[in-house]
Amino acid sequence: MEARRRMVVCWKENLVLVVMKYVRDISLKLGDYTVYTTSDYKAEVIETNRRHEVILNEQRCSCRLWQVSGISCVHAIAFIGTMKDANLKNYVSEYFIVAKYKTAYALEIGSLPNKAQWIKVDIGYKVLPPNLSLRPPEKPKKERIRSTDENTSKKMHKCLRK
Ligand SMILES: [Zn+2]
Repeated sequence: MEARRRMVVCWKENLVLVVMKYVRDISLKLGDYTVYTTSDYKAEVIETNRRHEVILNEQRCSCRLWQVSGISCVHAIAFIGTMKDANLKNYVSEYFIVAKYKTAYALEIGSLPNKAQWIKVDIGYKVLPPNLSLRPPEKPKKERIRSTDENTSKKMHKCLRK
């Protein structure tokens, strides 16, 4: 924890190192993508067999990576790369900005005592582990319930071979 805190102090960039490396790796592949801008904030980004819609002001892409991770996906970075004066920092979740990271590690984290040193507290009842020997819920019936219009007569089939 302290090592991470010391490491964060040295960072001079706006974005966290992991994001910077991710963007650097992705920017090598941008030649594989074609960007068709449809408005100031929307674009269609086409790769070999796929097409994705990027909406910058909503920080969304149809590949859904941006919404899940908070880091712009390759399609968004391809679109941002076509814009003048674009700053990637504006399109990354605030959790990946160094200033926020420094804030998270700004305070000291106190050390914890050993488990043997913990104070025993009487809560008034005993907490037991779950009883695993109880019978599991019933299995579903094996025989299917037939519909009223289904033929329910059972005919015997005779084999004609002798
Ligand atoms: Zn995408």
